[in-house]
Amino acid sequence: MQRIYKIAVLPGDGIGPEVTRAAVAVLDAVQRVNCDLRLNFIYGEAGYNCIERYGTNIPQKTIDILKGTHACLKGPMTTPEEPGAPPSAAVTIRKMFNLYANVRPCRSLPGVWSIKPNIDLVIVRENTECLYFGREYEVSPGKGVALRVVTREASERVARLAFKLSEKRRRYLTCVHKRNILRITDGIFRDAVFSVAKEFPSVRVDEEHVDAMTMRLIKEPERFDVIVTTNLYGDILSDEAAQITGGIGLAAGANVGDSYGMFEPVHGSAPKHAGKNRANPIAAILAAKMMLEYLGEYEAAKLIEMAVNKVLSEGKVKTYDLGGNSTTEDVKNAIVEKVLQFGS
Ligand code: NAD
Repeated sequence: MQRIYKIAVLPGDGIGPEVTRAAVAVLDAVQRVNCDLRLNFIYGEAGYNCIERYGTNIPQKTIDILKGTHACLKGPMTTPEEPGAPPSAAVTIRKMFNLYANVRPCRSLPGVWSIKPNIDLVIVRENTECLYFGREYEVSPGKGVALRVVTREASERVARLAFKLSEKRRRYLTCVHKRNILRITDGIFRDAVFSVAKEFPSVRVDEEHVDAMTMRLIKEPERFDVIVTTNLYGDILSDEAAQITGGIGLAAGANVGDSYGMFEPVHGSAPKHAGKNRANPIAAILAAKMMLEYLGEYEAAKLIEMAVNKVLSEGKVKTYDLGGNSTTEDVKNAIVEKVLQFGS
């Protein structure tokens, strides 16, 4: 029996359309070899490119598309920085659909330089609060204040998801905070994680200050399994984690809640590379793989993983960020070819 999913596709800005096109091509290849899987793509407009036409970076029509789909594959979007401009589209979607956890895996990949050979960790970042709550004020000229909101409810919710993930992995969870300085907000987060820990007695739980964690990620990243932290720390740590395993062109993230998921590369719209057919599409392709896992399509997800690993380990086709000179299209074609080969 066919399993049919409606997938919202938001190509985004800058290199977004190029890398998203590559991810959709790989998903199409997966469907060709897995006849029971049907993905109906519904394209929506979102991002900086919408502001002039619609006065917003997420038009209502796009919100309606998201509401009618099982999951969303999202390209990176340029964040408007002018005062009074709409907030980041990613942040708005995360809040609107209560996508409270941002899950960012980081592992050493075959044929790609990484700081250690055996890194395999996941950063679980709280996705709706902290400084990304989006309330910033200039209380008097030259004096700004930003609200950092942390609640026990949201902290427990993301902690539970992180512990469940740990149970399926090496059963080791590290809570990252800065409670020695931010005693109230990070105190709430840290205590929530340790209180949820009692529900998961098989998981060993540890804690680390965020500044120390930035060092340990470089010194001994192989020691970590699941890291759970607040929004801003998670954003920064996951870029660092991406860099120690080959760079941001390979890092994918899942934004998940209880009833919806949005999948995107960790990188941004990299405007200087836009339209040049040189961006690495693998982060977007691995985001598509995470989407298949979220939908329970593990076999299809595995196919993408095998295809990506094979192309990387062969080392013949790679974009500039991995030391090669292949184009986005070349990498997409190579991965599509491997999917068709492994799947037949
Ligand atoms: P960025 O990730 O877009 O680019 C930083 C640098 O990383 C690029 O100049 C490029 O050298 C490299 N890079 C990024 N993606 C790559 C890829 N796929 N292949 C090869 N190299 C790649 O970060 P930025 O310049 O800080 O941000 C640009 C815009 O994107 C900003 O408006 C920012 O707010 C936005 N952004 C959006 C998201 C999102 O939509 N989720 C995430 C991060 C940044």
